[in-house]
Parts: sequence; C-alpha cells; structure tokens
Amino acid sequence: MSKGSARTKILCGEFLLIAVMVVLAATALALWFFRAYGEHVMMSAVGFTIAVTTLSALPYLAYLAFRVSSLYADNDGLMRAALTDRLTGVLNRQGFDQQFRAHLRALVGQPERGLMLLIVDADHFKRINDQLGHPVGDIALKKIATTLKRLTRETDAVGRLGGEEFVIALPCGSSEQGEIVAERLRAAINRLYVGSGTKGAQLSVSIGGVFMRTPHSFAQVYEAADANLYRAKDGGRNRCTITKIAAGGRGRLRGLDGDLMLDATR
Ligand code: GH3
Ligand code: MG
Ligand code: MG
Repeated sequence: MSKGSARTKILCGEFLLIAVMVVLAATALALWFFRAYGEHVMMSAVGFTIAVTTLSALPYLAYLAFRVSSLYADNDGLMRAALTDRLTGVLNRQGFDQQFRAHLRALVGQPERGLMLLIVDADHFKRINDQLGHPVGDIALKKIATTLKRLTRETDAVGRLGGEEFVIALPCGSSEQGEIVAERLRAAINRLYVGSGTKGAQLSVSIGGVFMRTPHSFAQVYEAADANLYRAKDGGRNRCTITKIAAGGRGRLRGLDGDLMLDATR
C-alpha cells in the first residue's frame, strides 16, 4: 500500500468518527426538540435525523477521499521530481544520497554483503559539445543515463551528481561481481554513438570504483572512487579502475552533520 493511500484511509477514518459524533449530537437534539410532541413524532423525528445526517455524510466522504488521494498523488509526483535529474531522469544528488544511505544501512551486521560505488565520467565530453553542439551533448548524457539504468537492477541507485558525471551504488557480494557490472557498463556505453554520419562521435566513459563491506561516509567513499577515476583517466580513459576499502570498525552508524559516518569504536 502506498503512503498516500494509507494516509487517505486514516483521514477517512477520522471523517467517519466525526460523522458518527454529528449523527449522535443531531439525534440528541431531535430527542430534546421533539420531546413535547409525543413518542411517535419524537421517534419519527429521530429516525429522520439519523437517516439525513448519515446519508449526507456519504457524498462528503466520497469527495474528501477523491480530493485527498489526488493531492497525495500530486505530492508523490512532486517528491519524485525533487529527487530526479531533469535532463536524464536518473536520481539527482539528493535522491542518490537517500538511496545510498539505505544501501549503507543494509550493510550493518551483514558481513556477507558488500556495496560498490562507481563514478562514471564521460570521456572528452567538452570536445563532444564543442564539435557537435550542446544539444547533441545533452543527447549523449541521456543515452549514457539510459544505458546505466538498463544494465543495472531496479534496486541499484543510479544518479547524476552534475555535468557529465554519474554515480552508481551497487549492492554486490564481492568486488569481482561489481567489477563485472562496471566493465559491462563501460563496454555498452562504448557502443553508443551520437550525431550522424561523419559528424558524430562514439561515446566512452572512464569508471572509478570502490567496494566496501562496512559503511563509510559518502565523502570518504567518493574520494576513494574519485582517485580511481583519475587513475582510469590517466591510464588512457575508456577503462575501469576499482579498489576495495578496508573494513573499518564494527559498522555501527550514527548521524553526523547529515552524513552517515562509521563509528570508530572497535
Ligand atoms: P575528461 O575525459 O577528462 O573527463 O574530459 P571532459 O572533457 O569530459 O571533462 P571536462 O571537465 O573538461 O568537461 C566536461 C564538459 O561537460 C564541460 C561541460 O560543458 C560539459 N557539460 C556539463 N554539463 C553538461 C550538460 O548538462 N549538457 C552538456 N551538453 N554538456 C555538459
Ligand atoms: Mg569527463
Ligand atoms: Mg567530469
């Protein structure tokens, strides 16, 4: 059940409670008001009052349920938009951050699990913009994003941190498994082409990655993956460089300045 429909049910429940209270209050008023007209009139008045107040609540309830559920649907859409990169449709920084934290939490107390962070940076992207134009550069970014989404699982987090740089959080059992995925992504993107005829370019990306078994702050992991990205660029681009982060501590998490940190207690 979505959050919206659960909240709609709570609201309808509250509305029903109020409706019952209104019916009871109206019944008490009818009893009091018609008490002097004899039992027969009084009971008819009470029956009429109960029927009218109950029936009049139904259209209100239907209207409320409809309006509230459409408001929640709008709200869910806005939330999704706030976490999505407008150009490529993958997660933006905030959206990625949320999912990365969830993946980190899943590592706690699960020594058989691991998480790979990949930074995927388009090669010589400035040249593509300069030679083919910014709109073609945008098409290239969309194609890269689509490929990253297509070749990863729904549960993996794919985001664009900015410019021509994407990040992926990939739960995997071992560094080798993550390396296979990274290499598959690199090879698939290298088969992409933008532009047409002779006025086009084959795309390529360099990938820097790190594999961890215990949670580390995003800043820490990003720095290590970024250093590997630079190695991949220095090594000639269109390649993956991936290392492992040594396990640190027992993986107890606490919030610090909005970032997830590893508690250093050993
Ligand atoms: P390297 O292989 O070393 O990564 O070289 P690069 O040219 O890809 O890297 P550089 O940082 O020099 O240039 C990145 C370019 O990406 C420059 C910028 O104009 C372009 N860029 C950033 N954001 C966008 C965007 O949203 N759309 C387009 N079309 N281009 C973008
Ligand atoms: Mg680049
Ligand atoms: Mg870059």
